[in-house]
Order: sequence, then C-alpha cells, then structure tokens
Amino acid sequence: MPDSGEEQKMEDLISNFRWNRNEIYGRFNREDAENIMRIPISLSRSGDMHFWIRSKHGEYSVKSCYQVLLKEERSKGSETKGDSGSSYDDSNTQIWKTLWGLNIKHKIKLFIWRCIPNTLTARETIFRRTKQGSPFCSRCGDNMETMEHILFHCEQAQKVWKLAPVQWDGIQNQIGCFKKWWAALVQATSRNKGRQHIALTANILWQLWKDRNKMEFEGKERDGLKIVQKAST
Ligand SMILES: [Zn+2]
Repeated sequence: MPDSGEEQKMEDLISNFRWNRNEIYGRFNREDAENIMRIPISLSRSGDMHFWIRSKHGEYSVKSCYQVLLKEERSKGSETKGDSGSSYDDSNTQIWKTLWGLNIKHKIKLFIWRCIPNTLTARETIFRRTKQGSPFCSRCGDNMETMEHILFHCEQAQKVWKLAPVQWDGIQNQIGCFKKWWAALVQATSRNKGRQHIALTANILWQLWKDRNKMEFEGKERDGLKIVQKAST
C-alpha cells in the first residue's frame, strides 16, 4: 500500500473498463498487484461500478479494497495450516460445486462440464480422433480450431471478450487451458457478485460456442455485440 495517506479512488486504477496495469504495478508490490488484477471488473449498465468492497462507509476506495484482499489472504493462510487433504481434490470439488450452484440454464452447466475435460467437438479434436475433415478454424483459416481457440483466441472470441461486461484480465495467462482458466475463475466465488460474474462468464462462453456452430453449420456470421447482449440478458 502506498503511504501517501491519501485515499485513492478505484477509478484511478481502471481505464476504459480494464485494470490499468501500469498504475497498479506502479503503486503496489507485485503480489498485491497480482491480487488486484485478479478481481473481475463488472460493467454495470447503470454506469455504477460494482465492486466487492466492504468498507465502513461504503466508499469505493483502494484502501478498503486492499483490506478485504488482505483479510482473504490471511483466512486462506489459516485454512491451509490445518489442511491434511489434497488440494487438487479440493479444487476439483470446488469446481463442480460452483458450477452446479450457478444460476444459469442446465444446458449451459452441461456445456461447461464438457469444456472442463476438453470434450467439445472442435475441429481439431475430431481431426485428431478420426482424421476426418479439417482441423483449421473456419473463421480465421490458418489456426487449429481447438476449444480454447473458439472460446478465447479466435477473432470473434477476442471481440466478444473486449465488449463483455465482465473482465478476467488477471487470469489471462491461463487461457491456454480451459480447465486451468476455469479453476482460477472459480476462486472469485466468495467475492461480492462473484457468482454473478461467473454465471455471466458461462453465458458468454455458451454464446461463443453457439456462434461457432452457427458459423460452422449454417455459415452465418453474428455480430460480436449481439453475442454479448444475448449472454447478458
Ligand atoms: Zn478462428
């Protein structure tokens, strides 16, 4: 925490609905900066920023945000001290529990359930198993169409995530493996609106998959903004 004594506003750390990486790394030590970057930014339609801040006076400030983070870290530390079980099992259980508890359509839960062990029938998966068809993305042509390509890397996915009302910049480095990414995202469950953010994210993933199928089987292109709007309703 910088000790200028002045309360700093969250908005100083956010520009254009994204964490301002330079500001955050400039003001906080590496560990704190990473923790902050992990907080999803939600873009509320009312123009009112929703954060999981629980400050005394309800003000949104860097200080109160930081205190909640510290508390979380400390309680995590005390939990692990008495932990005799395997953390891998724990994280798997948490993944399933969170998924089934989300306020989303059942078919979307099933969809995410298929994404986690990578059993979606993306072109690359089919090609690898059957040597049938082409492994390349029908939209951008020269990239292998893996599940991660469809959901994160393809130009359409990039467009959609840019417009999405929830951002997961802090776990961007995990998008090479859906399961790892989802496991990191599930860590947000305990935060204020965390479940809503995760549910919204699941809806976006589902819309991206539906969009891919529309393109694949009907040759129809959809507007990225429409996908985001559909996922947000
Ligand atoms: Zn593509």
